[in-house]
Amino acid sequence: MWRSIRILILLLILGVAAYSNWYDRLSTTDWDEMLYIGVFPIDDAGNEVTRDYIARLSPERIADIEQFLNREARRYGLAISRPVRVDLYPPVAEKPPERASDAGLFQNMAWSLRMRMYARRAVRASGKPPPQIRIFVRYHDPTFTESVPHSVGMQKGLVGVVHAFADRSMTRTNNVVIAHEILHTLGASDKYDPASLAPLYPIGYAEPDLDPLHPQSLTEVMAGRYAIDTHTSRIPETLDEVRVGPATALEIRWVKP
Ligand SMILES: [Zn+2]
Repeated sequence: MWRSIRILILLLILGVAAYSNWYDRLSTTDWDEMLYIGVFPIDDAGNEVTRDYIARLSPERIADIEQFLNREARRYGLAISRPVRVDLYPPVAEKPPERASDAGLFQNMAWSLRMRMYARRAVRASGKPPPQIRIFVRYHDPTFTESVPHSVGMQKGLVGVVHAFADRSMTRTNNVVIAHEILHTLGASDKYDPASLAPLYPIGYAEPDLDPLHPQSLTEVMAGRYAIDTHTSRIPETLDEVRVGPATALEIRWVKP
């Protein structure tokens, strides 16, 4: 008897989770009304550099993310004039839950649950209307941090965590990473080789038909880099050099199969 009840409860929880994931996916990629995205800064280093950088963050500093997404959406012929709206939220004091690099299935599920609760708390604390997609940007001090951990964006939960540098000269590159993780939350997959980080041909190329093929000068957003030649690829400096390729457009349902 108890065993059946326990199984029933578990199935119920899984059913609710599956339904909410399905609903989230549908409601964020139907593109019939504006999608609200919130960017939440986090002072990761907790020193003067990061504190100062975050204090000076203004909506203008992240404005090119929304401009990029709406410009690219227009290129794919989306009917609405402003498909996404990206807002800067007040800084969040609490850091997001960490995921162990060797986490198994159950640890990952527990982490994902903690992440959802964390996002809900952060949004509530901001006192602003809740966005549909929440991107937490952890700012590191470039003086002490040479490389940052991998950023993530998850469609299940509609949450992203971006690791960024608190440096004026890096602001526009940070925005490239934020745009990449936003697109992950909408169902886009990476389009680079995880071993070499080189963009995959042709789906990771912004201009796959260029002749000669190299050097490329534009970046497919989910490739994250553009190829100079067959062995060298570079990170774009700004979103002006970034495009959403047809494979990504299909995944986020800008294009219907
Ligand atoms: Zn990625």
